[in-house]
Amino acid sequence: MALLTVENLTVTFPSRHGSTNAIENVTIHVEPGEILGMVGESGAGKSMTGAAIIGLLEPPGHISSGEIRLEGERIDNLPPAAMRRIRGRRIGAIFQDPLTSLNPVLTVGDQLIETIRAHLPLTKEAARERAIDWLRRVGIPAPEKRIDTYPHQYSGGMRQRVVIALALCAEPRLIIADEPTTALDVSVQAQIIALLRRLARETGAAVVLVTHDMGVIAETADRVAVMYAGRIVEVGPVAEVLTHPRHPYTAGLMASIPRIGPRPEILPQIEGAMPRPASRPAGCAFAPRCPYRIDRCIAERPALRGTGAAQVSCHLAEEIPV
Ligand code: SF4
Ligand code: MG
Repeated sequence: MALLTVENLTVTFPSRHGSTNAIENVTIHVEPGEILGMVGESGAGKSMTGAAIIGLLEPPGHISSGEIRLEGERIDNLPPAAMRRIRGRRIGAIFQDPLTSLNPVLTVGDQLIETIRAHLPLTKEAARERAIDWLRRVGIPAPEKRIDTYPHQYSGGMRQRVVIALALCAEPRLIIADEPTTALDVSVQAQIIALLRRLARETGAAVVLVTHDMGVIAETADRVAVMYAGRIVEVGPVAEVLTHPRHPYTAGLMASIPRIGPRPEILPQIEGAMPRPASRPAGCAFAPRCPYRIDRCIAERPALRGTGAAQVSCHLAEEIPV
């Protein structure tokens, strides 16, 4: 059984001018120990998908259809208190800016110990031992000394390691990581990515990794879901999608990474901008930017289809030489 399943998830924002769907019919599943990357440009809906999973959608945004299951159990319709218990204990979250996840007036140790004891029946001493052990596991040097220091005494990269320890110390089954390395130096990014991958393997936790960076996906994820204008346009094993992208948008994203993009001449850059939710075209949302567009693309929205491990939503998926 998949650890996380999201079925046909639609998030709607009501407004005076009528409601708009920020994401539409998003379906994903993640197995234990697996890292699913969700990639796309800003506003594509990847962060919103993550927020919906952890029950932290900003009102008035709400789930208008679809369902979310964690280990088989519906979690999209739980009362806030039940969802709060799941967050932290069964789902851990890692965000871009470590300072938003850490309390500046508490020592790193106190925050870890508090989180551990909120979820596991341990004495303060045992929780402290466990906290030191987590700091060691995420690569903090001299953890028995660093545990009594404050977040501002850590560098950005070390702080993000602390955030990862904080997200993992309650031993969640699922981790939602939203741009976890975007604020960090490139060399530190690689270390954090390697750490996340190792810990997912070791603990068997599933990870949904939200990022705009195909390079991060290439180095971290097992499978990737590419989002565009609120929908998944292509999903499949990373090795397959990155070497043989079948959606023109994925191909364009790939071409934007020089070290991976194999044939940049096909779509050297994606001209134009992603349509906003209220002004999405009726047919394929990528049509205004797509060099392969045909009449059918404007009239008819392509469904996500495919028989193998990979699926793509493009009328011409079989014909385009990407
Ligand atoms: Fe381009 Fe048409 Fe495919 Fe959309 S459906 S990506 S417009 S070819
Ligand atoms: Mg985002």
